[in-house]
Amino acid sequence: MTGPAPRTAVLISSGGMDSAVAAYDLADQGAALILLSFDYGQRHVKELAYASQIAGRLGAVHHTIDLRSVGVLLAGSALTDTSVAVPDGHYSDATMVSTVVPNRNAIMLNIAAAVAISEKADAIAFGAHAGDHSVYPDCRPLFFDKVTESITAGNEGLLVEGFRVLAPFLHLTKTDIARRGAELKVPFEETWSCYKGGELHCGVCGTCVERREAFALAGLADPTAYETVSREASR
Ligand SMILES: [Zn+2]
Repeated sequence: MTGPAPRTAVLISSGGMDSAVAAYDLADQGAALILLSFDYGQRHVKELAYASQIAGRLGAVHHTIDLRSVGVLLAGSALTDTSVAVPDGHYSDATMVSTVVPNRNAIMLNIAAAVAISEKADAIAFGAHAGDHSVYPDCRPLFFDKVTESITAGNEGLLVEGFRVLAPFLHLTKTDIARRGAELKVPFEETWSCYKGGELHCGVCGTCVERREAFALAGLADPTAYETVSREASR
């Protein structure tokens, strides 16, 4: 992360490992944290309980924002439309496009910015990383630059001095994030990645495959219990 650590950061927290590591990273730098999770009618809300647990561990404020009335209008995404199946396979596969939720990061970051103004926080943050770029347009550097510009211009005079939008993992891989999390002693077993929301991580959906691969490539023991581990991640 460039520049001084924020005093107070509003972090978008999904309950997954990326945002958990981002939370631990910011806390490690001494930032006070406000975690925002979003219920946008995603297929399961299991991840929200994990986000709450991470917030509790860090002594962070945690709010879950109810966007279910928006989610019901978002047909066509496997994460919000139960008639669209969650694809199995590698995260970078073309089929993963069905897991895009339209404009999700812009929606969440703009809400985070409004909360930051109210709370006089000097940063908002999200956990987008380089592995997201091929599938999710709102995780790419171009989006990051433009949304920063838009939030800054749209709230001129309202944001605290030195306000920044942070995406600390924008140029890192999931493997880098796993390594950083291990350094920070992030309780990975208390994070949830699976798109399906079963009793255990399914082990075969795009985000499960990505999770397994990150631990393996980082040379770390994966504490996750998977339903299926027979199909190895392959590119
Ligand atoms: Zn899964």
